[in-house]
Amino acid sequence: PTVASVLRRGYAEYADLPAVVDLSGNVTTYRELGRDARRLVAGFGSLGATKGDRVVVLTKNRSECFTIDHALAIGGFVRVALSYRLHQREVAEIVHDAGARIVIVDGERTSELAAELASFSGRLVSIDDVSAPTAIPFSSLFGDAEAEAVDIRPDDLVWMPYTSGTSGKPKGVMHTHRSLLSILRNILVELPGASTDDFLVHTAPLTHLSGYAMMAYFMRGAQQLALDHFDPGQLLSVVEKHRATVLPLVPTMINMLLPTLESGQYDVSSVHTVIYGGSPIAPDRLARAIKAFGPVFVQSYGLTEMPYNSYLSKQDHDFDPAGTVPERLASAGRVSPFVEMRLMTADGPAADGESGEIQVRGDAAMSGYWNLPAETAETLLEGGWIATGDVGRMTDGFLHVVDRKKDMIVSGGFNVYPTEVENAIYSLPEVAEVAVVGIPDERWGETVHAVIALREGCEVTQDQVEQACLSSIAPYKRPRTVEFVDELPKTGTGKIKRREVKERFWIGRD
Ligand code: AMP
Repeated sequence: PTVASVLRRGYAEYADLPAVVDLSGNVTTYRELGRDARRLVAGFGSLGATKGDRVVVLTKNRSECFTIDHALAIGGFVRVALSYRLHQREVAEIVHDAGARIVIVDGERTSELAAELASFSGRLVSIDDVSAPTAIPFSSLFGDAEAEAVDIRPDDLVWMPYTSGTSGKPKGVMHTHRSLLSILRNILVELPGASTDDFLVHTAPLTHLSGYAMMAYFMRGAQQLALDHFDPGQLLSVVEKHRATVLPLVPTMINMLLPTLESGQYDVSSVHTVIYGGSPIAPDRLARAIKAFGPVFVQSYGLTEMPYNSYLSKQDHDFDPAGTVPERLASAGRVSPFVEMRLMTADGPAADGESGEIQVRGDAAMSGYWNLPAETAETLLEGGWIATGDVGRMTDGFLHVVDRKKDMIVSGGFNVYPTEVENAIYSLPEVAEVAVVGIPDERWGETVHAVIALREGCEVTQDQVEQACLSSIAPYKRPRTVEFVDELPKTGTGKIKRREVKERFWIGRD
């Protein structure tokens, strides 16, 4: 089977059931979703796109995303869904790297991207039918013609998300119908009750973690609604109104939901599953969330190259609120049955309780990085193991992710790689050295902090640092705080010791 064949089966099996619901209450059935997706495949074809072509999607969460994702999967195209927050320069770099045939964009991003992609040889499609001279209106892609079924094989590519990695260079992560289907199976095995009774509300970006939940639940005939931003009151009122059952969230959102949740203003008793992952969450926050929501949480640990490798199940989240918070609540759970995991030290496999690099393998692994054989060989090791770059330890069968991939910062569920930010700051000639690190933050988990040493006799303001970042990287990556020092700690070979710069902010914490 392929993702396409499974989705196509759903259009028939769940034909009259609601698939997509929007905020105004409009309902699209599975039959209609299938029809719209086939029309859109024909529309993509009219733009010259054929099987295997990469299609970049840069939109907020919206109902059209569901139709687009179905069309891309059943049409044999490769979905390159990007974070809406990327800078247009970063988007252009990825469009070029992926050799995209079509770029779909919405809202305020349309005209700036149209300008940035002036020399783009593919087609720019605007969902809002915004009048950028070079953009094709999305609605014009829906004629009466429905595309014939495309013959898709398990080893054909279907999703290619981009990850920056530690080098700061964007890399396309190749997932085939086989690997994506395995990821979806790994999700459904952990959420065995997924069914036509389920109603998902997506407020985390569909380009990110929510995207996998979306596909898994479409396979089981559930209803789904997309919110274009995160607002605790709005989310909980939608949950109450639709008696929603499943919420994919990032830890920061869980944290931000707490006051509204604890106020008891909304009836959230319909929710039986909250899926979260991507970064750790402070156990005391999680304990509060469990008290307010009940034992509905499921956590997963994974990475773009192989998501959903371990699960902290609902049962493992359950604890006696009168007692102490169990240690397993700080873990990423147990290894999924269809994933092999090993922890490797420099001397071989780690002993129980000892830390080592987390390595994983299974059918859900990427097939490599797009056009980057050397980088692929560094991550996809002999025997099919993926080197995650994360350090973990196993205690009583629970995986503890003790350190993050090199020095990646996770702020509000978004990953920031220090090198990219440092590179932007280095564009200021006055800067001699800079180290960008994540520092603890109540609200965002971590925030981006820059420690800068200036050249002798030079001056730079925090504002200038911000401007330097805003001109080349996404706004969320810019440092929220800047500190000036005389010199940064360095190794014997002159490398800046970023870890040492960071440690000062984390002493006394986990
Ligand atoms: P990405 O490839 O952008 O999805 O980032 C993956 C990285 O996020 C992993 O390599 C981990 O460092 C981190 N991560 C993901 N899930 C968890 C989790 N449940 N707990 C701790 N860190 C996580």
